[in-house]
Amino acid sequence: MEYICELKNISKRFHTINNETKAIDDISFKVKKGEIVSIVGPSGSGKSTVLSIIAGLENPSEGEVIVNTDSIGFMFQKDQLYEWRNVYKNCLLGLEVKNMDNEENKIKVKKMLKKYGLTNFKNHYPSQLSGGMRQRAALVRTLVIEPDLLLLDEPFSALDYQTRLAIGDEVGTILRNEKISTILVTHDIPEAVSISDRVIVFTERPAKIKKEYEIKFDECPGERTPMKCRNTLTFGEYFRDIWRDLDVEKEV
Ligand code: ADP
Ligand code: MG
Repeated sequence: MEYICELKNISKRFHTINNETKAIDDISFKVKKGEIVSIVGPSGSGKSTVLSIIAGLENPSEGEVIVNTDSIGFMFQKDQLYEWRNVYKNCLLGLEVKNMDNEENKIKVKKMLKKYGLTNFKNHYPSQLSGGMRQRAALVRTLVIEPDLLLLDEPFSALDYQTRLAIGDEVGTILRNEKISTILVTHDIPEAVSISDRVIVFTERPAKIKKEYEIKFDECPGERTPMKCRNTLTFGEYFRDIWRDLDVEKEV
């Protein structure tokens, strides 16, 4: 199967007692296996709703979602670490739920903690960690189960700028090297452009697809990393175009 996920004419209306909110309006897109796709759009435009629908947490009001795997990993803005479990135990959680917390996988968790610079903190509790460390721990927990499809909802937005750049670069490189199919929701244009193969721009609510950009950096020799991409001329061009798409108020 060439596609990991397909959305066909998805709309979503939320009903409350006396009114109705149309969050998304006729959205269709496909994500190829191994592709990294970002969704950018104004806040409240329906980005998280789209991810919830792909994850099966919400049903669309109209349309169809096809997800060609049952192994989906999530990461949200808030890291959702459990405060009463230390870092190592938090990272084992996804494996425990799947009854996969065997010796081999425990070694894998320890290796990943090392790779993410968390070895010395594996017995610490989340409250003892910095924002960046917490987010890295959450990432280990998500990636250790090797999801076929990774859904990231503004995963770096709680981090300070410096950490955000570093983690975005690290994570973007890992996703690309390990060919993890990913849908990343972000309102950070540079983050979307530097990490993704494709950027989908949403309109204001109800979200429709306003534009789609195939992101290519021919100037990047060798391995593509977010940091290398940020240093190209093409990067600036993508940034300007997407900025314009989002900057609707100034047009009028
Ligand atoms: P974004 O992630 O782009 O900021 P959301 O997908 O969270 O936007 O929300 C889109 C719109 O749908 C918002 O107006 C929000 O208030 C509304 N919405 C989201 N979830 C619900 C819900 N469970 N019930 C009612 N309205 C909702
Ligand atoms: Mg959101």
